[in-house]
Amino acid sequence: MLQSQFVGLTPPPWTNPAPPARFFCRGRPQVKWILPGSRPRLRRPVARAVHSFEGHPPEDTKPSAMQRVLVVGGGCTGACAAMLLRKKLGPDASIEIWEKARGFGGRMTTTRQDVAGETIRADVGAQYLSADLSDPTSKELIDMLLTRKVVAEVGGEKGPGAKGLCSTPERQSGGSWHHFAGLEGGVNSALKCLADQAQATAYFEKRVASMDPVAGGKWRVRPFTGAPETFDAVLFAVPGCGVGGDNIDKIHGGWENLIDEECNRQLRSPQHDHRHAVVLFLAPEHLQACEAFFGPSNIEAQIDDDMVHLLAYQSRKTACIGGPVSKSPVVVVHTTHEFSRRNQRAGGRDRPFLEAVAGRVVHEYLKIPKGVRLDNIVLGSKVITWKQCQITRSMKGPAAFPLCKPLSDDPPLVLAGDYFTNSSFTGCAMSAANAVSALSSMLKGEKIANAVATASSAKRPADSDDGGYGKGQGKGKDSKGGKGKGKKGGKAEQGYRERY
Ligand SMILES: Cc1cc2nc3c(=O)[nH]c(=O)nc-3n(C[C@H](O)[C@H](O)[C@H](O)COP(=O)(O)OP(=O)(O)OC[C@H]3O[C@@H](n4cnc5c(N)ncnc54)[C@H](O)[C@@H]3O)c2cc1C
Repeated sequence: MLQSQFVGLTPPPWTNPAPPARFFCRGRPQVKWILPGSRPRLRRPVARAVHSFEGHPPEDTKPSAMQRVLVVGGGCTGACAAMLLRKKLGPDASIEIWEKARGFGGRMTTTRQDVAGETIRADVGAQYLSADLSDPTSKELIDMLLTRKVVAEVGGEKGPGAKGLCSTPERQSGGSWHHFAGLEGGVNSALKCLADQAQATAYFEKRVASMDPVAGGKWRVRPFTGAPETFDAVLFAVPGCGVGGDNIDKIHGGWENLIDEECNRQLRSPQHDHRHAVVLFLAPEHLQACEAFFGPSNIEAQIDDDMVHLLAYQSRKTACIGGPVSKSPVVVVHTTHEFSRRNQRAGGRDRPFLEAVAGRVVHEYLKIPKGVRLDNIVLGSKVITWKQCQITRSMKGPAAFPLCKPLSDDPPLVLAGDYFTNSSFTGCAMSAANAVSALSSMLKGEKIANAVATASSAKRPADSDDGGYGKGQGKGKDSKGGKGKGKKGGKAEQGYRERY
């Protein structure tokens, strides 16, 4: 199947018989032939490469013609969904992931910075994949990630970091819950691995602007940049409604006709908390201060003062599971809800905000004397405002598919995400599994949503707090008429690196 997509391209004679690697960024495909044993050298950002095709036998359905399925969103739900779709639909289906950011992650994003001569990775959202291994889907996916040495367990009874995790209210613990960190220093490696195993083709910096049903029972999906494309089925794995930068509120078009008053009320019911995450890359000479504060074995400290909720000792977390050891210690700060509410507009460009958080951590907790200038202590930082951080109230789908929302049978459309379950790896995996099951039934012609998408001008119910259909579409701006703070959906602080 992969080979056939490159019909007309003749490989140079020295290439191996494996299919060409495919890299897509801003929707521009670049086909590269790779010498046996060599690795592609590309300018960042790059999408993943497809190196081999192992093939997955379909579970219970064999598509008659090649089905083209789109997963919108390359976060945890999207990556799990891609993997589960491949299992369900078999090797012939074409599975694409369109992700607006430069790589997989979403709220499981990992940043990378060059600090004091070394490149260090740090998790800015979730610190772990928290999985309930009594859930068969979570167990299967985690087992695959463990086998491929992409993640390792942290904080088990006997394993590395044993008992070093805090028991915070927002993180599930006890019973069959286990926590896994990325062996290369970040949880987003796990999402890359899932998408690779799914043999999904990922397009980065490809943000969906609108989606409409078209003749022949297909969806026409329009990105902000580039030409629209048609798909047989679509799975939205973006955050649910809320105040965040990019979520289902920001995707417009005919699909919105499927949302009636009741559905709109349900979709607006989930609630999220709000936090800032601040990564502090410290100078190597402050390693001792971190070691003294966290003690011999802890990898977290729950603070809960008026500003800081949690301090995560990222560099120890990575080192204790056998990942790269950095000379520079890295500490990740999660702020309290109250503090984030008071500083809603603060982000990475807000120097007083960053100085306040960094100053509190390095002077009050790490006990580094105030005489040392902050910019000699903190060599790099990254701030993300998580406006839709973790779910505090979820919604239920229909009785047959309670962990997702099938919206249309023809063409098939399903919504999935942690807002149907809980904010964890398992929450995403369970919703993805439910959505994939609904989608594959719809592709076989079953009526699941009992609704057919119609092409007429779209308008969401009046109580929607969305800025209005169509404003700002196709302009690469916030859908609320381009009034957002940032270039893309108001997350001005994302991708910004503040150097003290
Ligand atoms: C601070 C913090 C701490 C956490 N701690 C933990 C923990 O310890 N353990 C744990 O298991 N979980 C934790 N979580 C929760 C976990 O991160 C989330 O539940 C999970 O990442 C949600 O995944 P998702 O795919 O549903 O959504 P997201 O991660 O939000 O992914 C959605 C993706 O869709 C993309 N997108 C949005 N709109 C568009 C568009 N129009 N077109 C294309 N792409 C689009 C976004 O860029 C994003 O990548 C934490 C989360 C946060 C924020």
